[in-house]
Amino acid sequence: MTIKLNTDEHSKQSNISKIKSFRKQNRPTSELVDGVLKGDISALAMAITIIESRIDKHRVPSQEIIAKCLPHSGKSIRIGITGVPGVGKSTFIESFGSTLTSMGKKVAVLAVDPTSSISKGSILGDKTRMQELVRDPNAFIRPSPAGSSLGGVARKTRETILLCEAAGYNIILIETVGVGQSETAVHGMVDFFLLLKLAGAGDELQGIKRGIVEMADIIVINKADGENLKQAKLAKVEFSRALHLYPPKKNGWIPKVLSCSASENTGIVEIWEVIQAFVEESKNNDHFFSARKEQNKYWLLQSIDDLLKQEFYQNEKVKSLLVRMTKEVVEGKISPFTAAEELLKLSKTP
Ligand code: GDP
Repeated sequence: MTIKLNTDEHSKQSNISKIKSFRKQNRPTSELVDGVLKGDISALAMAITIIESRIDKHRVPSQEIIAKCLPHSGKSIRIGITGVPGVGKSTFIESFGSTLTSMGKKVAVLAVDPTSSISKGSILGDKTRMQELVRDPNAFIRPSPAGSSLGGVARKTRETILLCEAAGYNIILIETVGVGQSETAVHGMVDFFLLLKLAGAGDELQGIKRGIVEMADIIVINKADGENLKQAKLAKVEFSRALHLYPPKKNGWIPKVLSCSASENTGIVEIWEVIQAFVEESKNNDHFFSARKEQNKYWLLQSIDDLLKQEFYQNEKVKSLLVRMTKEVVEGKISPFTAAEELLKLSKTP
């Protein structure tokens, strides 16, 4: 790759910045990895950009970076945070994250927001929503990667977790919206799952599906302040009671219900105490690491699925036959199953 330099004397400055940015973008992977391992934020950001990139020339470096960071990863607590828009996720992350950094932790905030690729602009992990944390030298915030599929977005976030861990972040917060499929993906990449709720609104009103409540290791009723305080306390009792109706968790953990005020910083330390108790308990009974092994297995199979699909749909022969087959299936001339079989057969021919 070459860079075009301006020849006139006045453009010297712009040439220098062009060269600098070219060098930055083309740093050898070993140099980038060294930077990541030293906790250099700009190297970490650049490494993540390469991993998120869909440009062909980044494929090999991206795999190299992951392979080199993998042995240094795994030493964090990975926490998923979900809740409907407006519940206070970013306010909570700001307050919780700052509490953790004040305890000497290094906190990375990531997000899985597949809708952002449609609406062009990430709602989650938006730096402007976390003013304090963004200035904190012990915090690293990365918005949701863009992508056309949840699988792709989730994969990139998963790899970003590894990089952040290799860079020394010992708490990883992963934000997602509690209304769709993305929480299942996030649940599959974290150790602990936190659901933020509001008092005085039923699950239906909050758009939270039963499955999401089942995944939660803690339910936190946010905005427990001012006139809301009494209602939040009531909701806490109600939710605790309701949780008994859910099946017990495989690891033996009994989900807790707490309340907090993200904007007033109350109840935040108590949430951290519950998470620590969870980690201690699940490390003692070995569920912590066995759950991570299960997650790795799941992601292996998921990755195979994604790669197979990608290969299939990018096959030129398949592309053209698929158009014809779709028409025939729609017109009832051929069964969907037969059409699928023929397409698969074709995709395997050299
Ligand atoms: P998100 O969409 O879930 O990320 O929610 P935000 O963090 O953007 O918060 C939505 C609104 O709720 C904002 O106006 C916040 O100021 C407000 N909010 C967040 N947490 C609290 C809280 O603990 N108490 C009160 N009273 N308001 C809060």
